[in-house]
Amino acid sequence: SSVFAHVPPYPGDPILSLMEAFQQDARADKVSLSIGLYFDEQGRLPVLDCVRQAAQALSQNAVPCGYLPIEGIAPYRQLVQDLVFGADHEAVRAQRIATIQSLGGSGALKVGADFIKRYFPDAEIWLSDPTWENHLAIFEGAGLRTHSYPYYDAATGGLRFDAMMDTLRGIPSGSVVLLHASCHNPTGVDLSREQWQQLIPVIVERGLIPFVDMAYQGFGDGLDEDAWSVRALAEAGAQAFVANSFSKNFSLYGERVGGLSVVCNDATTAANVLGQLKATVRRNYSSPPTQGARLVQQVLQSPELSAQWAGELAEMRGRIKDMRARLHHALHERFGERRDFGFLLTQRGMFSYTGITEPQVHRLRVEHGVYLIRSGRMCMSGLSRANVQHVADAIAHVLG
Ligand code: PMP
Repeated sequence: SSVFAHVPPYPGDPILSLMEAFQQDARADKVSLSIGLYFDEQGRLPVLDCVRQAAQALSQNAVPCGYLPIEGIAPYRQLVQDLVFGADHEAVRAQRIATIQSLGGSGALKVGADFIKRYFPDAEIWLSDPTWENHLAIFEGAGLRTHSYPYYDAATGGLRFDAMMDTLRGIPSGSVVLLHASCHNPTGVDLSREQWQQLIPVIVERGLIPFVDMAYQGFGDGLDEDAWSVRALAEAGAQAFVANSFSKNFSLYGERVGGLSVVCNDATTAANVLGQLKATVRRNYSSPPTQGARLVQQVLQSPELSAQWAGELAEMRGRIKDMRARLHHALHERFGERRDFGFLLTQRGMFSYTGITEPQVHRLRVEHGVYLIRSGRMCMSGLSRANVQHVADAIAHVLG
């Protein structure tokens, strides 16, 4: 008899299972608006030209593939700091930020979560309602208790800012608060700068520990604009965790490349924190992989390739905005004043919460080959000029 008899089958990740169903769907006009990947107008995952050039340059002088330092490549780590915080940021200059290379944004969240569990064993973490499902899995998996604070307002497609603030004013000091820097997943609803300016003093004065997840830097308004909240927190004296990912903005999903930065109040503390982050990595996976970080480093250290990257990113961002406008326009034509889709224009980044219910999501898939995830979250980058009308018609059909 099997010693593994008590191991239940894995039901699968709902988003990835949906992707498989999509691939098996024979309909020519099927549209995938589920998984959080950026697709171009032709529905392909792009290979950025700056990355292609970086790969060529790297392949010309083959370097041996030894182990990287536990904390990752030193110049890469500095470039991450400069990109996330801005090279002139006081916290960067004061060397009071500890940054490690991470396995994507997920790896940064996991190392941060393990570090918190060890050094803040009683801290509990507060997540937006709703948030990326893996936030829950990662923090609970690290042994932390999770709670949620009010966030998305289903009635308006906007933010429950007052309720969010009330909750954050009432939670124990020392609590960790997970915040999305920009392009909130899954809702697309972000805080405005004015709202951040109200939130940040509450965080600092109440001694809350922000953990900022920045998985979409450059997909909202721009590289610096999207990092504004992170920089403002550090400037205000918040001691904070920041997870950043290059999966989307470099289209390097499978390379698993990102960073974890911990903003401390001085350089000595940052050195100690860096040491303990290394210890955390050592007992997890020992050291990070090479290729993704080398590619990103190659781009970011070159002014020409960086400028090119910023341009390619602007194109991806622009296409998403264009699709938001086109879908909004097509839906407005179908619904007129009967239903307001203005949230499509105010929400930012790759995702929108559409308010489409689970039974309607089901009908969209079965009757029209339009794939959304159960919550009604739509990935805008699955839209193209060629399919946006079909999607609008399908939505009009199921919403009636
Ligand atoms: N955080 C958020 C909010 C995300 O949406 C994602 C990716 N779906 C991640 C983190 C993880 O990104 P990565 O693939 O780089 O691990």
